[in-house]
Amino acid sequence: MQLVLATHNKHKVKEVAAILEPIVEGLTIGAYDGPEPVEDGSSFLENSLIKARAAFKYTGKAAIADDSGIAVEILGGSPGIFSARWSGGKDDAKNRQLLLAQLADVPEGNRQASFVCTISLVSDAGEQSFTGVWPGRIALAESGENGFGYDPIFVPDGFEVSAAQLEPMVKNALSHRSMALSQLASCLRPQ
Ligand code: IMP
Repeated sequence: MQLVLATHNKHKVKEVAAILEPIVEGLTIGAYDGPEPVEDGSSFLENSLIKARAAFKYTGKAAIADDSGIAVEILGGSPGIFSARWSGGKDDAKNRQLLLAQLADVPEGNRQASFVCTISLVSDAGEQSFTGVWPGRIALAESGENGFGYDPIFVPDGFEVSAAQLEPMVKNALSHRSMALSQLASCLRPQ
């Protein structure tokens, strides 16, 4: 089976292929080079569906798309779908600095947050979506060199280190993205 991943981000194609291809026999993940739709949905679910539908329409092949971000409880779920551009541009360091500044007066007990990832699959057979949630808290300061985005300021539940201090294999086994992908994998495997 071939799946088109609705992203122009080659790193993401590689990451998703590395997780999915070994667990779903005969699966290949292809990159998508068609037009990128406007992501004007109001949730991770809506945005992932917008992207997957566009890729399915353009290629005629079964397509998947993900949408992800970080939701901070005391900010009512923000940055949420605006995570990638929270400080105005796509600058991970500035996004983290802004979030830390917004939480400067918030004590450790009230800094709960979750990474969320929704993956949608759109094909002739219809539409399905899968969501993974990785709970934790926002640290008081940055630490760690691995990962990307908000990893240096996210401390997953059960850990006293940031996601950027975890080995990539450990993060990939626990993360919101891997939770959503394993649900997708179970649905792709022949029953
Ligand atoms: P997108 O789904 O690629 O648009 O990513 C949304 C944004 O959410 C990213 O730019 C990151 O800022 C943040 N994000 C999503 N997943 C992760 C993660 O696993 N670690 C750190 N940041 C993440």
